[in-house]
This record gives sequence, C-alpha cells and structure tokens, in this order.
Amino acid sequence: VKRNLKQIISSDPISVFVTAFLLFGVCAFSGIFLSRALNEAAIFWPANAAIVWLGLYIGYRYLPALLSGVLLSNALMQIVFGDPAAVAVGLPLANAVGITTLLLTLRFFGLGLRSIGDTGKALLFFGVICIAPLPAALIGAETLQLAFSAPLATTALHWWAGDVVSSIIILLPLLSAPRIARVSTPSATRRRVAAFEILAGVVLSAAGFIVLNAFGLPYSAGIIIPLLWVALREGVFLTALAGSIFIIFASVLLAFDLMHAANAELPLEEAIFELQIMSLLSILPAYFIAASINARNVAYINLAAKEKLAVQKAAELEVTLANMNQGMSCFDKDHRLTVWNRQYAEMFEMDLEKVSTGMAFLDILETQKRNGNFEGDPRDLLSKILEKTGAGESHRSETKLASGRIIFSVHTANPNGGWIATHADVTEKRNIEQSIAHDAMHDALTGLPNRRYHEQELTERAAKCQEEGGGVALLHVDLDRFKNINDTLGHDAGDAMLVHAAQVLKSIVRQTDFVARVGGDEFVVICDIKNNTEFLSAVADRIIAKMQEPVPYKGQLCRFGVSIGIALQKGKKVDGKQLLINADIALYRAKSNGRGCYEHFTTELHTEVMTHKQLSDEILVGIERGEFIVHYQPQINARTNKIFGVEALVRWQHPKRGLLGPDKFIDIAEDIDQVAEIDRIVLSQTLRDMADWKKRGVKVPHASVNVSARRLSDPNLLENLKSLKIPRGTISFELRESIYLDDEDDSVMWSIDQIKELGIDIELDDFGTGHTSIVSLHSVKPNKLKIDRRLIIPIIDDPSQLQIIKSVIDIAKALGIETIAEGVETMEHTRVLMEAGCKMMQGFGYAGPMNAEDLEAYINSEKWKAA
Ligand code: C2E
Ligand code: MG
Ligand code: MG
Repeated sequence: VKRNLKQIISSDPISVFVTAFLLFGVCAFSGIFLSRALNEAAIFWPANAAIVWLGLYIGYRYLPALLSGVLLSNALMQIVFGDPAAVAVGLPLANAVGITTLLLTLRFFGLGLRSIGDTGKALLFFGVICIAPLPAALIGAETLQLAFSAPLATTALHWWAGDVVSSIIILLPLLSAPRIARVSTPSATRRRVAAFEILAGVVLSAAGFIVLNAFGLPYSAGIIIPLLWVALREGVFLTALAGSIFIIFASVLLAFDLMHAANAELPLEEAIFELQIMSLLSILPAYFIAASINARNVAYINLAAKEKLAVQKAAELEVTLANMNQGMSCFDKDHRLTVWNRQYAEMFEMDLEKVSTGMAFLDILETQKRNGNFEGDPRDLLSKILEKTGAGESHRSETKLASGRIIFSVHTANPNGGWIATHADVTEKRNIEQSIAHDAMHDALTGLPNRRYHEQELTERAAKCQEEGGGVALLHVDLDRFKNINDTLGHDAGDAMLVHAAQVLKSIVRQTDFVARVGGDEFVVICDIKNNTEFLSAVADRIIAKMQEPVPYKGQLCRFGVSIGIALQKGKKVDGKQLLINADIALYRAKSNGRGCYEHFTTELHTEVMTHKQLSDEILVGIERGEFIVHYQPQINARTNKIFGVEALVRWQHPKRGLLGPDKFIDIAEDIDQVAEIDRIVLSQTLRDMADWKKRGVKVPHASVNVSARRLSDPNLLENLKSLKIPRGTISFELRESIYLDDEDDSVMWSIDQIKELGIDIELDDFGTGHTSIVSLHSVKPNKLKIDRRLIIPIIDDPSQLQIIKSVIDIAKALGIETIAEGVETMEHTRVLMEAGCKMMQGFGYAGPMNAEDLEAYINSEKWKAA
C-alpha cells in the first residue's frame, strides 16, 4: 500500500497537484474553521507543515504542481470563508513562499526524510524551522494589514511563531519516525511495555496537571517527567509524537474552555499560544535527550554491525587460509610475519611449531638457507620484494628447496605496509615444462640436440665470438650409403646405426663441443677454436676411421662411412648461417670427391660453387629464351668425295659471354637435369633445318644428334619421337660409349631397339675411350662406330696407335658395323684412315661445326673437294 501510494502521488504532476490541493484544503479548512468557531482563537496553522512534508516525500520534481495545488486550494478556502480579494491572493502567496523556503532550506541542509535522529540534526532542524518562515510571515502580515488593517509587527510575529510551532508539531514526529531515523522497530513485547509506560505517563501527567492547575502553574510543566521517561526509553519518535499529541490535546481543551488557561488574564488566543510555547519548552529538552541517545545507539549499532562483520570476515579468512591450495604469508612494514597458513610452513618445509607471529623475514630466510632450502642472499630477495611492491607491482620468485621441490611465490604490496605473498608448489609443472622443452630441443632417437637447438647454440657461440674473439668450427657429418642400410636391412637397423653414429661422435669430440643431429643421416659438430685449427682434420680423420668400422646388428655386420665438410670462422666475422652454408659446400665437395673423406671449406671452393650456381640459373633462363642453338659439322665420304651427313652440336648463344661450346655448360646442365631438354631442342631444330635444306635443294641427307643417358631413359621419349614423324634413315642418335653399355640394363636395350624401329640409326660415340665389350657391341648392334678423336689424332706418329684403329675397324667390319673417324685434322689422317679401311671422315681437316647458313654456303662452295 505504501509503495503504491508513493507511486500514485509522485508519478505525475496532476496527482501531485490534486494531493496537494486536498491535503492543504483539509488542513486549512479545519484550521480556519476552528479559529472562526472559537472566536478567532488561532489553534495552529498546520497546512503549510503538511505540504512541506509532502514536498519532502515526493521530491523536487513536482514542486510547481505542488505549489499550484496549494495556491488554488488556499485561494478557494479564503473565498469559501468570504474573505476579501486581497486576502484570497495575498495569503496563498504568503503560504506558497513559506512552503517553498522551508522545503528548500530543509533539503539544502540535507534534512530529508531520513535525517532527524541525532542532536546535531535536531538543532539544525530547529534553526531552519525558526528562520525559514520569516519571509512568508512578512508577506502574510502585510496582506492582513492591507485587508483588515491588522497591526503589522504583531501579525508578523504571530504568523511566524504560528508557523514555527505548527511545523514542529507536525514535522518533528514525521521526520523522526523509526523508518526515517534508522532506529530499529521495537518488538511486540517492547511495544506492549511501551504502551503501558505511556499509559502510566498519561496518568502521572494527568495527576500532575491537576496539581499544577490547583496552583495556577503552567500545565505543560507536568509533561516534563513523563516525556523524559519516554525519551529515555522510547527514542525520538515517540517523544516527538507524545509532545505533539499533548500540545494539540491541551490546545483543544483550552479552546473549548474545558481547561483554564494558566494565565487567566490573557485573551484565549494569547493563552493558547502561551500554552503551546510553554509546552514546546518542556518537550524540547526531552526530545534532545532522545535524539542524543538515538545517535549513540545508531553509532553503537553500526559499530556492533561492523564488529560482527569483522568477526565474520576473520572467520571466513581463517577457513579460506586453511583450505586454500596455496601457501600464504603476510609481512608487515617492519618485515615481520603477521598472518600465514599451515600450507606456507609445510611448503617451505619449515618446522610448523617454530613459525610464529612477529618472526623477521630475514631470520626466516637465514634459517631456510642453513637448511639448504634457500639459495642466494636473503637481503637481496628482501630488497627486490620491497622495490617491486613499492612500485605497486608484484614480485615473483622461485625457491628451490633441498628436496628438489620448487616453490613459486608472488609478493604483492599490502595497503597497510609490508606485503602479502602466495606460494604454490610448481615442481610438477616445472618438470613437465622442462621435459617439454627438452623434447622440443632434442632428437627422440639419438637423444642428441636437434636442428633447432643446434641453430640456437650456433647463434649463441657466434655472438660470443663476436664479443670475446676466438672462433667457431663446424663439422657437417653425413653418413654415406645410409639409405642402403635402410633399404636392405630395414629401418630398425637404420635407427641402430644412427644411434651408433651419435655415440661415436660423442665419444670422439671434446666435452665442450656440441653434437647435434640435424637431419635424417646428418650430424653437426660445433667446436670452439682458440688458436690451432689442425686438430679439426685430426678429429675428422678419427670420425671417418671410427665410422668405417663395421657395426654388428642382429648377427650381421653393417658398414657405412661418412663424408665431412669443415668450415671455420673467427672473431667478428663469425656468422652462424654462413658457417652452415660453408660447411655444406665443403661436404658437397667431399661427397663428389668420392665420399669417405673430409674437405675444408675454402674461398676457391666457394667461388666454384657460386659460379656453378649462377651458371645453373643462366642455363634455365637460356633454355626459356631459346639461347641454345645448333651448329653442324659436315661428315664426308672420302671415297666418293661427297657430304653424306652432318653432326648436330649444341651451342649456347650466351648474352654476355658470346657463343659457348658444350664443354662450358654440359656438365652443369647434367647436374641440374637439363641435358635431355637440350637434346630435345637440338633434335627438333635439326629436323627443321633439314626440312628447310631439302626445300632449298641443299643436299644434307643425314644428321647425327647426341643423346644423353637421361634422355634415353625418359619414359616419354618414344612418344615424343613418334610425334616428330622423322623420315626413316635420316637421323642417327649418338650414344656415348662411356655411359651405357655392359650395364645390360634391359630398359636401355629395349629403348635402343624401339628407337631403331622408328628408323633412327644408333651410333656409338667416342668409341675406344670407354670399355665396351665385344659381347655388348654385339647385343646393341649399332649402325656405326665413331672412333674417338683422341685415338685418331696420334695415328700419324704412333704406329701402335694405328694398329689399334685398324683392329677396331676390322672388328666393326666383322660385326657388320660401319666406322666413322672424328678428329680428322689433316689430309694425312684421311689417307692413313682410308688405307685402314675407314672412309667416313669428320674433322677440322674438312670443316669445324658451323651454323645452318654457313653450312649451306660451305656445301654450295664444295670446298672440301679442294681439301
Ligand atoms: P662429340 O659428340 O664427340 O662431338 C665431337 C666434338 O669434337 C665436337 O666438340 C667437335 O667440335 C669436336 N671436333 C670435331 N672435329 C675435330 C677435330 O678435328 N679436332 C678436334 N680436336 N675436335 C674436333 P664440341 O662441339 O665441343 O662437343 C663436345 C661434346 O659435347 C660432344 O662430343 C658431345 O659429347 C657433347 N655434345 C655436343 N652437342 C651435344 C648435344 O646436343 N647433346 C649432348 N647430349 N651432347 C652434346
Ligand atoms: Mg657426338
Ligand atoms: Mg665424339
């Protein structure tokens, strides 16, 4: 009901207006009615006070609505009682001003609905009540003087005093109500006792009045004792309420002549006023006593509540401390222990009995240090804690105990000085972290540091060299034929060999050297270098020797070797990454030198590798840009003196270095797997040129192209050749003797047969430099043998050489194979070769390789005939 009431009243201006209108109207009506009925005896003027309370109740927001209600109600009231127009305007104005000033002043001093309850506030309230009505009293008195020529000063005084008195009578109990004054509501028993006491008080006062009346003394004096009693027992509200009831009751009795005024000479109006003033003088001391008791009670209650809260909190804290997983310790500004829990003592393995309040932090640490449970300087830790906590940060530390356990502590500043610390046992966590960190940095199989660890270590050592001088050497150790072991004996054997290799490396290098496994079968040793570097070769030798020893595995002996690349840098020049690259280059060289050996990195090696690298890139670009072209070297039948064909030879039209022969690039092209591609280019260009010559009537009936081993085993070769639609008998493939034969590789033989079926002849190039057996010559059945120029050139001067050539020619004849001589440099060569039975010639003696255009001119000029 209360909440709804408040909602209704304060929800909108209209209802505030109506409420104010009615409240003021009722109060004013009864006030004016009473005073008129009783021959102008003013009892009090309580309407203003009631509206002030309403104003306090609903707040500022609706002040205009409130005042409008008052103004209208008041004006109507004056009209109802037949007052002149000046009064119907002036009095509402005066009352509105009175209400406003009082309301605003009360609010200004914070005397709201929950304020009066102690002496200070009560005094303030009386001060406000006394001063605030003054302007209204002046306006009201002025109005009454105008309307009724009432004496200004007296009227103003009465108005003012009337307002003060009625405000006290109405507002004091309202603003001191228990809900408002924050005094606990009395219990039912307490209320019964109170009712009895009030009754006793009333009886006592009644008796007192009779006595006072008999002696012609002010009656109000009679309520002092009972009211004091109420004040002591019941607090501010009942004191104010009892006082107000008494004043109203006594005023009514006096007004209706049911009781005689103490001062019988005064007119009734003055007598009632005197009664009210006297009553207030009796009530106020009692009220002040009640107010001060209440203030004390409130303070006491607050204190008790706080104490209770503190006890509760302490209990909660104790339970929390006892049950938390962490240890906790608290040190005051003098670094002495104030609070801690059992876990704290246990975690640090302290004697629980010996831990006590007031122990100095440093003493505790000293004891811990003696027991091996603290490393370092206690003072150091203290000053670090103070520094951090002083800066408003928390300090973290880790303590390793003698038992190996690790305690992690966080120290945070205590607002009261000193610090509060929590402690956690992080042993397991750290162990797991450590093992994770170890796993991340080590190879699971050999237990050696892995590539990541190795890189980190190398960077660190390099940095150290740059600062302190000295040098770093790197041995890049690679197992030879390791794949072989994996393939033939299985991966378990491979793993066993890697473990063995790791052990060998560890056993050979110095304690300070760092061994890591950086790849499948690759290891790296980092050595610090002081002055001498000779030992590096010795170490490499020892590693190679030891690794070559056979290793027993499951009843078998495994053998493998190692190649080692060594790189070394000193002082400021040390650069981990470069060192790795250098060692790698050296290793590459060691491997190409036939494995099982070591190689030192040198700048020459570096240049070689770099050129190789550059050339490789250029070859790839050159292929794309069509820089590879074909030159042709004529082949002549010395008997008929006719050109029967040409050999197509690749040339590289290098953009910077000009025309390059195969000796400048073919090996590198081989390394990067591009020879087959070059062969393809040469063949198709040759076919185009031949078609062209045919069109122009240039007689080149046959061309030989060189074919690399790779091209021969290219699975797409045959498809490719078929699509070229090569006219039968016009093209030969020159296969280098040194590569194929005797390998009895079925697939190569098969390819050769297929090529022959396409109408392409097979010639064996560079014959006499390899080691083809007559048996394999028989099975390959080439159409031609090209006798190598290194055999041809010396035949003039060396009869035994000529004898060899003759034998070759005879064997070829016996097998039905034609022979062609290359490197025919002079006519003497032609003569001797013709005698020996070889009629086909190719060589500078006739012409060197030339481009298609020059060849056409050469053929047309028939120069060879002159030769
Ligand atoms: P090859 O197949 O034995 O070619 C003959 C080489 O001997 C040519 O060198 C040619 O210029 C040279 N020559 C010719 N007549 C004489 C002479 O009277 N005296 C001397 N001293 N040399 C003579 P070129 O062009 O430098 O080719 C070298 C090698 O490169 C070739 O030897 C061949 O094995 C390879 N080659 C050339 N072109 C290709 C190709 O397109 N593909 C493949 N895979 N290899 C090629
Ligand atoms: Mg050739
Ligand atoms: Mg040759």
